[in-house]
Amino acid sequence: MSNPVKSIVIVGGGTAGWLTAAIVAAHHQGGQSRGLQVTLVESSDIPTIGVGEGTWPTLKNTIQQIGIKESEFFSSCHAAFKQGGKFVNWVHGNGDFYYHPFTVPLGYGRLDLAPYIADIASYAPDSNFQHHVCEAGLAPRTLAESEFQGPCNYAYHLDAGAFAELLKRHCKASLGVRHIVDTVREVTLAADGAIGSVVLAERGALSADLYVDCTGFASLLLGNKLEVPFVNTDNILFNDTALAMQVPHAADDSPLACNTIATAQNAGWIWDIGLTHRRGVGHVYASDYISDDEAEYNLRSYLGAAADGLSARKIRFHSGHRAQYWKKNCVAVGLSAGFVEPLEATAIMLVEISARYIAENLPPDDNVMPVTAKRFNAQMAYRWRRILDFLKLHYMLSQRPEPYWQAHRKAETIPESLREDLALWAYRGPTREDFDSAIELFPAASYQYVIYGMGFKPDFSRQAYLYGRRQEAEKIIQRNKQLTQQMLQTLPPHREYIERWLTTANH
Ligand SMILES: Cc1cc2nc3c(=O)[nH]c(=O)nc-3n(C[C@H](O)[C@H](O)[C@H](O)COP(=O)(O)OP(=O)(O)OC[C@H]3O[C@@H](n4cnc5c(N)ncnc54)[C@H](O)[C@@H]3O)c2cc1C
Repeated sequence: MSNPVKSIVIVGGGTAGWLTAAIVAAHHQGGQSRGLQVTLVESSDIPTIGVGEGTWPTLKNTIQQIGIKESEFFSSCHAAFKQGGKFVNWVHGNGDFYYHPFTVPLGYGRLDLAPYIADIASYAPDSNFQHHVCEAGLAPRTLAESEFQGPCNYAYHLDAGAFAELLKRHCKASLGVRHIVDTVREVTLAADGAIGSVVLAERGALSADLYVDCTGFASLLLGNKLEVPFVNTDNILFNDTALAMQVPHAADDSPLACNTIATAQNAGWIWDIGLTHRRGVGHVYASDYISDDEAEYNLRSYLGAAADGLSARKIRFHSGHRAQYWKKNCVAVGLSAGFVEPLEATAIMLVEISARYIAENLPPDDNVMPVTAKRFNAQMAYRWRRILDFLKLHYMLSQRPEPYWQAHRKAETIPESLREDLALWAYRGPTREDFDSAIELFPAASYQYVIYGMGFKPDFSRQAYLYGRRQEAEKIIQRNKQLTQQMLQTLPPHREYIERWLTTANH
C-alpha cells in the first residue's frame, strides 16, 4: 500500500519557513493541478529569531527562481550587495585584514597563482580585482547592466524581518501557499511512529503527508517529538552567545560597505552589516572566555558614539546539528536542523539547499520517502562536516595570543578531516580536486582566500619543479591590475548605485 504525497505542512514562519514554502511551491506550481497543497503555520505568540542578514551568492538564483524581481527584493528588504567578507584582526590582532571575495581568482582552475606570489597575504589583491572593489566601496555592476548580472559575483545583506514579510506576500499572492496563524500545542504520532498531526490551539488537528519543521531552535517536530538527538559541536567552535544591535547610519547618505566586516576580538568577533536604512552589528563570543559585560564593552568600544542610547539583544545558542535531518515523514530546515555561528553566512544557504532538495526530490508517494530521507541525510551530513571544517579554518590559523585563540589551535579541537587537509596544503595548497563533490558548498577558491589571507604559505619548494610557469603567472597578475583599474573607474559607489537603480526600476 502506498499513499500519494499531496500535502505539505511547514511549521514556522521565519526565514526558513517562508523560503522553504516559496522554493517548494514555485517548483511545484504546475503541480497544483495534481493537487499539491503547501500550508505554512506560524505562531503569532512565538517570535522569529529576527537576525540573519548576511547571505551567500546562492540567494541570487533563489530569488530569481521563486519569481521575485531583484529591485523589488532590494526595496522591500532594505537590501545591499555583499561581495564577500573582510576579516579584520584575525591574524595578529594589530590591524591586519584580508578579504574572502565571492569572485574566484583570475586563472582559477588553470593556474594557481599562490606559488608565484612572494607575500602570500597579498594573494587576494594580486589575483582578484574584487578585493579592490570592496576596499573602494563600489557596487558590483553599473547601471548599464541588468538585474542579477554584473562583472563581480555577489550575495546580499538583507533585513531578516522584511525578507520574511516579502516572502509571505509572494507565497500567498503568487504561489498558492495557504497561511495559518496559530500555535502548535501538541504533535501526535501515527501508529508507525511518523508524525500523525500537529494540533493547533484554535483550529485543532492538522494533518499532512510531509511535515517540514521550521520551528527554530525549538525543533518541535524532529527534535522534540521524533527525538532525533542534537550533535553538539561546541568543542570545535566555542562561540555560544551573540549580542545584536541595530545601529542607525550617521547620515542618510553615509557610505555603504559592500561586504560584511568581521572584526576579531579577544574571545570572538563582531559582525558589521550595512543595510540601506541601518547597520546590523553584533558580537559573537564564547561565554567560557569572557563575560556578557565584557562582550558588551567590546561591542560598544567598536561602535563608539554610534551605540549611545542603543540596547543589545542577547541570544544564546549551541553549535551543532541534528543526528538526522529527515526522519519518516518529517524534515527539518533552518535552526531546527542545526546552527553554527554566522561567520560565513551558511545558515540561509543551507535553507535554500535543503528546500531545493525537498522540492526537486519530493516523492510521489510515501513508499519512496525512506530512500529520499536517506539520501538527504547523507548529503546534509557531508555539508555540515564541510561547514565545521571551513569555519574552524578561520580560527586555527590565527596567531593571536589570547587563551580563546590558543585553545582554537589545540589539535583535539580540530576535526580530523581538517587536519588531513592541512597536511596536504602544507606543501601544495588547496586545489579544485580537493573539492570535487557535486554537493560542495565552498569552492577551493574560498579555502585559498582564507588560508593565504591568514598568511599560511605552503612549502612549494618541496616540489619546485612543478612551478615553472612564472611568465604565465605574471601575465595573469598584470591582467588583474588592468581589470582592477577598469573596475575602479567604471563601477559606481555602492549606495549611489542602489539609489539610482531603484529610482529607475520603480518608475
Ligand atoms: C546571532 C545570529 C546571527 C545570524 N546571522 C546569520 C547570517 O548572517 N546569515 C545567515 O545565513 N544566517 C544567520 N543566522 C541564522 C538565521 O538567523 C536563521 O538560519 C534564519 O533566520 C532561519 O531561522 P528559522 O526560520 O529557522 O527560525 P526562527 O526565525 O526562529 O523561526 C521560527 C518560527 O517557528 C515558529 N514557531 C515556533 N514554535 C511554534 C509553535 N509551537 N507553533 C507555531 N509556530 C511555531 C515561530 O513563530 C517562528 O515563526 C544567524 C543566527 C543567529 C543566532
